[in-house]
Amino acid sequence: MGTKSRETIYGGSIRAAAERAAEARKTADRLAVEAWNKRMLGFQGPAQPSPALGDAINAGFGYLEVKCLGCNTHQTVTLDIVRRPKATPVHELERYMRCGDCSRLQGRPYKRSHLVALRVAKISASDPPSTWWPGER
Ligand SMILES: [Zn+2]
Repeated sequence: MGTKSRETIYGGSIRAAAERAAEARKTADRLAVEAWNKRMLGFQGPAQPSPALGDAINAGFGYLEVKCLGCNTHQTVTLDIVRRPKATPVHELERYMRCGDCSRLQGRPYKRSHLVALRVAKISASDPPSTWWPGER
């Protein structure tokens, strides 16, 4: 009797609602990252609370700028290769970061760093290549 499928009747509005929700999540994630960046850049912290790793990536902020307190270099860490659950708050990464140069110099993992801000791109190409890596506990 020519009944339309549920897909035909509801499919479009369900997809549109899902898209709106995804869009709103992205906006919320971006605002949370911007608020965190403002606090970090304006007040140098506190870093806690901070957006989750996955939320920062979802908002388009794929990089975390870190300053080594040993050698004062600023480097960027690529968030999507960090082997932590996506729900991990960004500030928790601080204690896993090790500076390659300072670690070599001191002969042990050097982990004193300051989180600067979340970034949409790596900091300028003229900066030294990142020697930071997300180490194991
Ligand atoms: Zn260093």
